[in-house]
Amino acid sequence: MSTNSFAATMKTDVCLTFDVEFTIGGAFSDPANKQPVSERSVFCDVDGESQGLGFILNTLSKHKLTATFFVEALNFHYFGDSPMSDIAKTILAAGHDVQLHLHPCWRHFRMEDWQTQLSSIPPNDSMAERSTEDIREIIQEGMQAFARWGIAKPIAIRTGGLQVDKTVYHVMQELGVPLASNIGVAISPPINSELHFSSGRHSIAGVLEMPVLSYCDLSFRQKKHLKSLTITGSSWSETRHLLNNAVRKNISPVVILSHPSEFVKHRDVQYTQLAPNRLNQSRFKTLCLFLEKNQQHFNVLTFTKGHSCWQAQQEEQALLSVTTGMTIRRMLENKFNDTF
Ligand SMILES: [Zn+2]
Repeated sequence: MSTNSFAATMKTDVCLTFDVEFTIGGAFSDPANKQPVSERSVFCDVDGESQGLGFILNTLSKHKLTATFFVEALNFHYFGDSPMSDIAKTILAAGHDVQLHLHPCWRHFRMEDWQTQLSSIPPNDSMAERSTEDIREIIQEGMQAFARWGIAKPIAIRTGGLQVDKTVYHVMQELGVPLASNIGVAISPPINSELHFSSGRHSIAGVLEMPVLSYCDLSFRQKKHLKSLTITGSSWSETRHLLNNAVRKNISPVVILSHPSEFVKHRDVQYTQLAPNRLNQSRFKTLCLFLEKNQQHFNVLTFTKGHSCWQAQQEEQALLSVTTGMTIRRMLENKFNDTF
């Protein structure tokens, strides 16, 4: 059997991943008038119907698909345990995977006088460029929150804003967290260029990293412009093209990034005026239908399921790309959706 025909018989794993997080809601820039926003920014109710998390869970259930939800834990510093703990339990009860997401900016609220400290100690939301001790303390805080919430110890972490460096992986390894999805080279390229992975699986300090898929959407001579695969950023024709090419090039898994808030339009940072984002909802429904109907090529799985089969790193390093025509059509589609 030739390599190509073997590759054609392999299924491509697809991980639908959602970062579930509360929002600072402008409180750092205008602490006198703005407060962080909790459930409203995750459920995104419009006329009593959840157009955010509820929409995602309903759509996944309709197509019998499971997803990984990276649940942000450090917001307990402001909100206490209950709002996010309840959300994590809702996700688990629906049969999905809950893993750990960390936005260290929430630790700013450890200070009682956090408003007056904003100018002297600006909140730092990055997990990169911190000391080993600092990273250990942050990850342990997240793991302890999961333990208090009665949720299994995470086997995977996604750092906030996909900001990461090598030290994070060393600490993850030390703390017994075997999987990561911390990289999205088009969103936040790591300072260390050795970590510029666009797809596949990569062993970093003993941790297996599955980056959010990044692809080339425009190129000029040697210069390539990259984009990471999200529901809100990429059109359905781009996503379908990338999935089909991942099968052809034996790239696995394809990690797609989304957030509950991508499925609504919000006019203000406090999430008080919401409307369904019909374009993004339609993209996600079409993707789920496609994955359900094409199970001969795609295996949709969670990080927990993947843990048992993703033992080795994948050598394949091909950078996927879309055509310039697709990029231009998507730019127009997104612009039109933002305007109306
Ligand atoms: Zn996040």
